[in-house]
Amino acid sequence: MTFFDVPTRVREQFVNITAQVRQAVQALGLRDGAVTVFVPHTTCGLTVNENADPAVISDMLQQLDAMVPWRQPFYEHAEGNSAAHVKASLMGCSLHLIVTCGRIDLGVWQGLYLCEFDGPRTRRVWVQ
Ligand code: ZN
Repeated sequence: MTFFDVPTRVREQFVNITAQVRQAVQALGLRDGAVTVFVPHTTCGLTVNENADPAVISDMLQQLDAMVPWRQPFYEHAEGNSAAHVKASLMGCSLHLIVTCGRIDLGVWQGLYLCEFDGPRTRRVWVQ
C-alpha cells in the first residue's frame, strides 16, 4: 500500500486527485489488475465525475448542500458536523479502479475527486 496527503482549503470542496492516484499506481508497480483508493475519514469521500467543466463540481456541491443542509434542528451529533458525515456516506469512502498497462482506465471526461465536507484539513488517501 502507498498513500498521499491532500490539503483542503475550505469547508466544502472537491479536489481533483487523478494525477496523485496515477502516480501512486506507478509507485506500486502494478501493471494489470485493480486498485482500491480509500480515505480513512468520516467527513470526506471519494467520487468519479467530470473533469472538463468545473461547473459540474460546483453544481454537485450546491445540490448536495440543498439535499443535506449544514444546519438542521434535528441533528443530534454534538460535534455539529452531521451534514459532513451524511455527505461523506453519500459519496462513499473508496473507489475500485481498473489498471491496464500500468495506468488506471478512466473515461475521457472522468476525473477522481476527494470530496471535502468539513475542511480545511489535511486528508490522507490510501492506495492498494
Ligand atoms: Zn462529527
